[in-house]
Amino acid sequence: MPELPEVETIARGLDKRVTGDRIESVWLGSKPEPLKSPAAEIVRTLEGKRIAGVRRVGKHIVFDLDGEPAAAKKKAKPVPAKAQWIVHLGMTGRVVVCEPREEVAKHTHAILQLKSGRELRFVDPRRFGRLSVTQGFEAPGTEPLQVELEKFVQLFKGRKTPIKSALLNQKPLSGVGNIYADESLFRAGIRPRRRAASLTHEELRRLYLAVQVVLKEAIALGGSSISDYVDADGEEGFFQLQHRVYGREREPCLVCKTPIKRVVLSGRSSHYCGKCQK
Ligand SMILES: [Zn+2]
Repeated sequence: MPELPEVETIARGLDKRVTGDRIESVWLGSKPEPLKSPAAEIVRTLEGKRIAGVRRVGKHIVFDLDGEPAAAKKKAKPVPAKAQWIVHLGMTGRVVVCEPREEVAKHTHAILQLKSGRELRFVDPRRFGRLSVTQGFEAPGTEPLQVELEKFVQLFKGRKTPIKSALLNQKPLSGVGNIYADESLFRAGIRPRRRAASLTHEELRRLYLAVQVVLKEAIALGGSSISDYVDADGEEGFFQLQHRVYGREREPCLVCKTPIKRVVLSGRSSHYCGKCQK
């Protein structure tokens, strides 16, 4: 499942490739699951718009759109000139920029024809990804790379849930998924099952720093997905961040050689070192 660093990498790649291009027409597939906004609304909002930029918000890819929609000329229901196309990749979603002659992959749910002659395609075999249109999009939680220390401490201070579950809950902090939660907790020396409310200010400060360092490292490496998705170029190949605990059950801890443990918390695997993490 693409996490924040992967989504950031994909959004940056798309921003480089399609910003300034114009969406001429939109084709949507017949499967209802990927469409979070009504199909007609998606088409009406996207067609004729210029892509002003592409960015990541939480784990969403946000295409900022401007310019008069073509539909306005046909006296269709007017749409505001500024809007956003929001793509959530779900488990297996990917956005590909390609030439129209390229074969349309199975499980393609949307094709945007661009003025430059290229196409922007949304492909998602498992259909957990979501497409929607809106104005003034805001992520549901606080952005982990922008939050300040004291705000971060406040977000987790009174919570009775395990800290790992609190990190995965997207309402306080948006965008930290399973891999980076495990890696951050390891670097902060905190066990995933610790109740958030039991963490001291110093521990929360270490966690805050660890989350920032882990996410920034992963973004610098271009994301570290272990699933089968492709970047905006349609090319495989993210560098793999060296996971210190994630996916390393029974392997020796890189610091103290104690075998890494795995527990299940809120239905997700959590990996930690019983010696380095308290
Ligand atoms: Zn250890």
